[in-house]
Amino acid sequence: MRITVIGTGYVGLVTGTCFASTGNRVVCVDTNHEKIAQLQSGVIPIFEPGLDEMVHRGVESGDLHFSTNLEDALSSAQVVFIAVGTPMGEDGSADLRYVLAVAESIGQLMKTDLVVVDKSTVPVGTADRVRAVIAQALRNRIDSGDSVAASLKFDVVSNPEFLKEGSAIADFTRPDRVVVGADNEAAGQLVASLYEPFMIQSHRVLLMDTRSAEITKYAANAMLAARISFMNEIAKLCDHVGANTSRVRLGIGSDTRIGSAFLYPGCGYGGSCFPKNGKALIQTMKENGVDPTLLQSVEDVNRKQKQIMLEKVVARFGNDLSGKTVAIWGLAFKPNTDDMREAPAIETIHGLLERGAKVQAFDPEAMEQAKTCYLSGLENVAYFENKYDVLNGADALLLMTEWPAFRSPDFDEIRERLREPIVFDGRNQFERFHLHENGFEYFAIGIPGTKLG
Ligand code: NAD
Repeated sequence: MRITVIGTGYVGLVTGTCFASTGNRVVCVDTNHEKIAQLQSGVIPIFEPGLDEMVHRGVESGDLHFSTNLEDALSSAQVVFIAVGTPMGEDGSADLRYVLAVAESIGQLMKTDLVVVDKSTVPVGTADRVRAVIAQALRNRIDSGDSVAASLKFDVVSNPEFLKEGSAIADFTRPDRVVVGADNEAAGQLVASLYEPFMIQSHRVLLMDTRSAEITKYAANAMLAARISFMNEIAKLCDHVGANTSRVRLGIGSDTRIGSAFLYPGCGYGGSCFPKNGKALIQTMKENGVDPTLLQSVEDVNRKQKQIMLEKVVARFGNDLSGKTVAIWGLAFKPNTDDMREAPAIETIHGLLERGAKVQAFDPEAMEQAKTCYLSGLENVAYFENKYDVLNGADALLLMTEWPAFRSPDFDEIRERLREPIVFDGRNQFERFHLHENGFEYFAIGIPGTKLG
């Protein structure tokens, strides 16, 4: 199949690369010239395990191309994926300006019959809006005498993406399920057929209507976010009464009706999806007169949870942190990615600086993002190239992201490098080392350790 993918971010690049890996002819298009120039010269602009090799294989095979020229890319396409960003609008709703601009360009430039696939995360009803925008652009062409436009046909399909950054390739090529929403069955089947090579063992494509597919994506993220906020609330209670949230987690997760995934408490969820999609779903509910009580609480719990590390530091050292230096392990919103969007480390670092502390930070992949974007220009933040060097002279270590490299560290070295052996564990990674019994002050999330206050 000849495929064009519009938007070459996390989702578009993975989608295009994976489809090229099964022999489709793929052109990935982006308006960001720098990004496309990097990709054309073999530089992968994001960190995603396995992606680098796969892109290079795709390019070498001749099946994967990168371009800024949408007109060329559409000239012989059969299927076009829209994978541009849907940032949060001012009222929390999804900002569809990029999706609808792309839809208009498709209508203006398409030269062949097309199946247009919404892969961006978009609110219910967007497939209909995309369809209307393309139809209008075609009508405009017909009105201005474009004879080709009159014969062109297209369908719009919703195919939301469920990949997780950090395991995007595995998620795309071995998905739990693929959701294809189509109001025209033939178009839905065509999109479903692209996933057949990833479905050798069992068929896991769920065909449905476009509106159900659009809601499925938001509902899935909302359910996962709800589980995290639920556990964070339980962890708060554990902290107060001296119970252990890890044991509670095992106690409830072993119930097959509940299951064990996404029950880990921590310092709040971040990333490009959960916070944004939660707010967008709340907004959609309000617009439709549905009271989003539960989802609003999920958001509220998470907003407060992002303050938890700061609260624990303040409880230990006091509100005035001048003269204190805090070492941070992990800046990305989760391991195996350099993505810092809505990462809990951002708020925590700002809070520490506002109270007069100095920050020393290390992350295996996200430091460039931090320096150039999310923490750029901040005085009193120093970056280190090594997880132990960052501890030198610090008064405490804060673990913010559970990178594998942080999971079994050398605690003797940590003790030597820190001014005082104080560890705040925002991901409950060090519970098994019983640090508080080994000369450390240890503060985690709903885990008995050193008592505060
Ligand atoms: P991203 O910001 O990494 O990439 C979006 C890309 O689209 C950028 O490179 C941008 O330059 C490009 N773009 C914008 N307008 C364009 C246009 N008119 N023509 C061509 N390119 C254009 O975004 P992302 O993380 O890949 O997310 C894309 C969509 O997928 C969003 O709706 C997001 O919510 C959804 N999603 C993301 C993830 C994830 O883990 N990142 C997972 C599932 C779904």
